[in-house]
Amino acid sequence: MRPALFCDRDGTLIHDAHYLRDPAEVRLLDGTVELLRACRAVGWALVVVTNQAGIARGLITPAQYEAVRARLDALLAAEGVTLDATYHCPHHPEFTGPCRCRKPGTALYTRPRRDLALDLAQSVWIGDRWHDVAPALVFGGRGLLVPSEDTPADEVARAGREAQCVPDRRAVVAAILPSGSPA
Ligand SMILES: [Mg+2]
Ligand SMILES: [Zn+2]
Repeated sequence: MRPALFCDRDGTLIHDAHYLRDPAEVRLLDGTVELLRACRAVGWALVVVTNQAGIARGLITPAQYEAVRARLDALLAAEGVTLDATYHCPHHPEFTGPCRCRKPGTALYTRPRRDLALDLAQSVWIGDRWHDVAPALVFGGRGLLVPSEDTPADEVARAGREAQCVPDRRAVVAAILPSGSPA
């Protein structure tokens, strides 16, 4: 069993374009490649988990979602980085009823735990919203909030109390791999 870095997508790995459906708008954020490389270098799994309520709202088609996912994979591949898996919740409770996969639901973490043989208690959750890092508290891992321009102040405060808050992706590397050098 190995640890995973569970990453939110929008506002965490890529610029949050809000209901992103055009692959041409996928832009990696500063430090994303370095963070993923550093975790890969020490043998961690790289798993993206993303809420995509735009699908439930009819703003993003499943084909558009897939094209964006493939574009992110291609941008990372050009940098020599391969994700182990990407999971998304296409639901929204107002449109499609309750589900167990929409973060902070845990279904999209128990599935890779089984499929990829992950040690969740040794894993790290990063994201720009509290619901991205809250699952760490459920599974006994570490949660690091990396605020974006969309992060509410109360969520920053809560992460400071109940998890951890770091300024950027470089600081994530320093916090979780203190003895390792970034690749
Ligand atoms: Mg986000
Ligand atoms: Zn869902």
